Amino acid sequence: MNKRMKRLRRTLLITLGTVIGLALVGYGLLKLSGSREFQLYGGIVNHVETSEKAVALTFDDGPTGRTEEIVSILREEGVKATFFLTGAEMEANPEETKQLIEAGHEIGNHSYSHDRMMFKSPSFVKEEIEQTDAIIRSYGYEGPIPFRPPYGKKLLVLPYYLHEHDRQTILWDVEPDSIGEIAGDAQRMVDHTVEHAKPGSIILLHVMYESRTPSMQAVKGIIDGLRSKGYGFKTVSELMGE
Ligand SMILES: [Zn+2]
Repeated sequence: MNKRMKRLRRTLLITLGTVIGLALVGYGLLKLSGSREFQLYGGIVNHVETSEKAVALTFDDGPTGRTEEIVSILREEGVKATFFLTGAEMEANPEETKQLIEAGHEIGNHSYSHDRMMFKSPSFVKEEIEQTDAIIRSYGYEGPIPFRPPYGKKLLVLPYYLHEHDRQTILWDVEPDSIGEIAGDAQRMVDHTVEHAKPGSIILLHVMYESRTPSMQAVKGIIDGLRSKGYGFKTVSELMGE
């Protein structure tokens, strides 16, 4: 092999190594951003350590025109839940926002625009969170405002911001309507949730869009099923003892 060939081979190997290295770093960051157990700064809560048979029902996104239906299901069952709402949808649906607050549910911050909060500037993150807090307070809501990132995604800037503001990243440990095989079937979501929930579980459901009709249909069954196993229901902040 002459000198030129050797140099070419070396260049190729270095290029290949770099590509593989970058791919691994990218894969690692993606895994980290979606992890429900770990982040680089501050607290992450996907369930609460407790021996008490209590769980929190949490509903992401909205409010939308489907708010009345979920409020009435929860009223009939006597359950208070936590709703992680977006600033944009609260502005678009003020009546539905009021309905949730008047019914006594906990209101969480789910960002303003529901944009993924990875690789975003500190000012973007700050604006998304503080604007949404301000909208929640503008409706007269006085309770604690837990925060849950859109898509559960966070990397560096968001956890750092939350850490600096003494807030935790609230995630979940049971998510029946994120599991493709059962998400279209209310009864299978009920069975999954009743089977997998444990003391201190945070259960995630989406009921605010038409495509999520089976999730709406599963709510009553989930509540009844867990109650028959001795579980009670709390808001996320109550579960965390705040
Ligand atoms: Zn969401």
